[in-house]
Amino acid sequence: MDISIVIPLYNEEESLPELFAWIERVMKAHGFSYEVIFVNDGSTDHSWQVIEQLQGQAPDIVKGIKFRRNYGKSPALFCGFERAQGEVVITMDADLQDSPDEIPALYRMITEGGYDLVSGWKKKRYDPLSKTLPTKLFNATARRVSGIRNLHDFNCGLKAYRKEVIKNIEVYGEMHRYIPYLAKNAGFTRIGEKVVHHQARKYGKTKFGLNRFVNGYLDLITLWFLSTFGVKPMHFFGLLGSLMFVLGFIAVVIVGVSKLYYMYNDLPYRLVTESPYFYLALTAMIIGTQLFLAGFLGELISRNSAERNKYQIEKII
Ligand code: UDP
Ligand code: MG
Repeated sequence: MDISIVIPLYNEEESLPELFAWIERVMKAHGFSYEVIFVNDGSTDHSWQVIEQLQGQAPDIVKGIKFRRNYGKSPALFCGFERAQGEVVITMDADLQDSPDEIPALYRMITEGGYDLVSGWKKKRYDPLSKTLPTKLFNATARRVSGIRNLHDFNCGLKAYRKEVIKNIEVYGEMHRYIPYLAKNAGFTRIGEKVVHHQARKYGKTKFGLNRFVNGYLDLITLWFLSTFGVKPMHFFGLLGSLMFVLGFIAVVIVGVSKLYYMYNDLPYRLVTESPYFYLALTAMIIGTQLFLAGFLGELISRNSAERNKYQIEKII
């Protein structure tokens, strides 16, 4: 099979028939063999009935997965990826904002251009300013932290993957925003971008509010931490802890020694507890110890993790 199209959806009943007809049209015109996997993420409208209907029309092509409740876009993508069989896997949103006309070009970039992953770039967006402006900031940060310099639009729903990529990464939580970063951490570094057409939402409304930016930012920090210190947390906490502790210790020594010096030379001196440095030193030493402890706990956890010896082996001869 050439292409699997994975479509996560939550309450998109109006868009689905139109979207599917459009996909069919494009696929037929190019003669691809394909499947469409609709993942119904606990919709409360009639989306599932619509999917069943489409399945009845095209039983070899349409596959549907129905969650019992709403889990989120990442879990939906994860389950779609698990079942995808095509050599190239395309993800797209169900709301008709992404155009199926882009699929053939994306497919060629993977199969002929040698890319592992191609991300869409909604260069001209049809979204409210409250969304596009923070998105710019978000992408700039993501570019820096992830080191993927050439991506302008991490969160674009329209993406194409070589099959190995999606079978070797694990999308969870709300990490769908950072799939290129996940892929990069798994060793898939040929990441490309293609400018894609974007449309205003025709039916329904957006499922993500402004908290997407707060959560997105926190997730980025998590991913950065996991990819840098995930299997060796002590290298992070131990270093910070040692620094803190040593600083505190030096301060304590200075406070103590200077007091003794003043005493022996019969100079006026004050109580150690009257010096602000004493408290600073105390705090630094306590925080240092705590950080160290966090490092040890982290090591214990990572030692027990099933992931600790999971590597991406590309080939064995
Ligand atoms: N979506 C989903 N589960 C959710 C929220 C959204 O499957 O909990 C789907 C949604 O139906 C759409 C896609 O994810 O197909 C992108 O959502 P949306 O269009 O609301 O995001 P935006 O375009 O505003 O970034
Ligand atoms: Mg949308």
